[in-house]
Amino acid sequence: MFPKIKPPKKRIYLDHAATTPLDPSVEKVMRPFWQIHFGNPSSLYKEGREAKAAIDQARKTIADLIDARPNEIIFTAGGTESVNLAIFGAARNHKVGKRPPHLITSKIEHHAVLKSFEALEGEGYKASYIDVDKQGFINLDKLKAAVRPETILISVMYANNEIGTVEPIMEMGKWLKAENAKRQAQNLSRILFHTDACQAAGALDINVNYLGVDLLTANGSKIYGPKQSGFLYIRSGIAIKPLIYGGGQERNLRSGTENVPGIVGLAEAFRLAQKNRLKENKRLRALRDYFINQIFKKIPEVILNGPDERKLKVGDTPLRLPNNINISIPGVEGEALILYLDSYGISASTGSACSSVSQDPSHVIEALGREKKFVDSSIRFALGKQTRKKDIEYVLKILSGLIIEFRKVSRI
Ligand SMILES: *Cc1c(COP(=O)(O)O)cnc(C)c1O
Repeated sequence: MFPKIKPPKKRIYLDHAATTPLDPSVEKVMRPFWQIHFGNPSSLYKEGREAKAAIDQARKTIADLIDARPNEIIFTAGGTESVNLAIFGAARNHKVGKRPPHLITSKIEHHAVLKSFEALEGEGYKASYIDVDKQGFINLDKLKAAVRPETILISVMYANNEIGTVEPIMEMGKWLKAENAKRQAQNLSRILFHTDACQAAGALDINVNYLGVDLLTANGSKIYGPKQSGFLYIRSGIAIKPLIYGGGQERNLRSGTENVPGIVGLAEAFRLAQKNRLKENKRLRALRDYFINQIFKKIPEVILNGPDERKLKVGDTPLRLPNNINISIPGVEGEALILYLDSYGISASTGSACSSVSQDPSHVIEALGREKKFVDSSIRFALGKQTRKKDIEYVLKILSGLIIEFRKVSRI
């Protein structure tokens, strides 16, 4: 009943929003740091100094790319840890007293953010979760209205991992700067601004001054770097509390012997991503829009989740990640479709990597205000460096064949 096609020898991996393969040239720069330059960066002798020099260089590379100073970069073990450090670190600088500190985020954040907020609520902090519109853009008026005298932190992602929506971080940063100036005059605490840029680091401009952020999270896993590598940018003058206590590495904010190969790999991956992003974005955008056009042509009643850029002239700051396709196909159960695609050599996902383990409906698609039939049938294709037009052609052929068969047996 399903299309009789032999899967290709090479798998077609279209889940680059979940993780990316290590770039061979990144692996190459990491290699000497396992066995040759293996020293502990805190040691005073040659091996230690070599390792320390490599970390210093990586820190400078990243700082230069985001218009920051090297001492504003803290290396961590990935996006989740950086997010936790930013949120708990900012929160724990304020005591939960009679008027508990208040934090604001959006409803479509990664679980690293949402679960951290929930944990803080359990400790007595207050939190607001701001709605997004039908395309996943945060409602700026609602964000402004949510601010209270006790507010200490706003955390909004730069780009969404499921639907690719790019949030107006720069506009928020500009407004918050004025807001903080007013608060200073009223003797209220400054509201810190954190952005989770894990999905953005490979595609967008990460200039922290242009964005107007105080804290910024990025990781290696999503930009062809090593997993469990990441950094948190902390604007100088801002005090946050550590999560991990010990030997005092990373300016006392992240104790533990540094992951030298990981740090070196992260910096190289970030350098390559930023160097190539404009050219690569253009290529991916064309592939993405071709995919969307074709799927609309072949399959009735499909909807695109997230902003549609097909008829727009896209400038330097796009509205949607250039590699993200997220569609809902009523009559098709997302999870089942993923497994069939897998048998044809195609890797895609039903949204976030986390929700496919827990089988929960996507909180992101739900937040768009979609009916259940769209929430249950959403599927994400995240293209990458290796994706070519012929891969897309093959996926379209299999996908449309499968959808027709699925719909024959479904009630919709
Ligand atoms: C992947 C991701 C994270 C978590 O990063 P890890 O390195 O897997 O811990 C956080 N936020 C967003 C938006 C992500 O895409």
